[in-house]
Amino acid sequence: MSRLAVVCGGSRGIGKAASRLLAERGCRLAVVSRNQDAARATVASLQGADHLAFSCDVSKVQEVQKTFDAIQKTCGNISYLVNAAGFNRDALLLRTKPEDMVALLETNLLGTMLSCRAALRSMLHVQGAAIVNIGSVVGLKGNVGQCVYSASKAGLEGFTRSLAKEVASRNIRVNLLTPGFIHTDMTVGLKEEDRVPLGRFGTPEEVAHAVLFLLETPYVTGQVLVVDGGLQLAM
Ligand code: NDP
Repeated sequence: MSRLAVVCGGSRGIGKAASRLLAERGCRLAVVSRNQDAARATVASLQGADHLAFSCDVSKVQEVQKTFDAIQKTCGNISYLVNAAGFNRDALLLRTKPEDMVALLETNLLGTMLSCRAALRSMLHVQGAAIVNIGSVVGLKGNVGQCVYSASKAGLEGFTRSLAKEVASRNIRVNLLTPGFIHTDMTVGLKEEDRVPLGRFGTPEEVAHAVLFLLETPYVTGQVLVVDGGLQLAM
């Protein structure tokens, strides 16, 4: 039976590109996002059969557990988990609404922690299981107008390293991938190419290749892989 990969935030952008590449590698995909029609559309575009779409808001405790229970029941044990569900809402801290602070932390940080927790028991039954969480260079370096987004992504570094230690003895690997500017819905209208040493934004496919590297490389765990065209060097 082929490996089952769950991609949270798989309906668009980086998660969709990762879903595509994993399907090309012969994985069965469980594509998770709030909008089930969008997740279904992604599933329909994937190479191979046996892929399924699931609707879930990763910031909701009960929903995440129910969704992962349904995935395991319908599709079997999980080999790979990619946590790409996330959003930004840029504003200086003084202008950031408290409800936006809560939403950013609940989706970007809590959502990733909840889906890791919900997937782990199933992953214990699989040889070579691996998790990739998607952070951001902003979580490593900070950025004006992104205090809370940055905090939500920085939290993923401590979480990822700690979880990697916790589950290493069970041969489950956990890594963090931190993109710079990538062409997706999240960066529409941004003109920041001049800040990037390589002189351009990255593509979701380029990030997906790095996701695949972390999932498939058996001696790498607890690491942060920066995929940013050199942006971090200039921050
Ligand atoms: P997109 O906006 O293109 O896609 C976001 C995906 O996450 C969609 O599938 C969306 O589906 C899903 N999603 C959002 N909120 C939730 C939620 N609460 N529950 C479940 N699914 C959710 O973003 P990107 O592909 O650009 O971003 C992917 C990740 O990469 C994010 O964590 C982002 O912070 C990070 N990142 C992106 C960068 C970039 O330049 N693009 C740079 C650095 C990091 P739906 O709306 O249907 O739920």
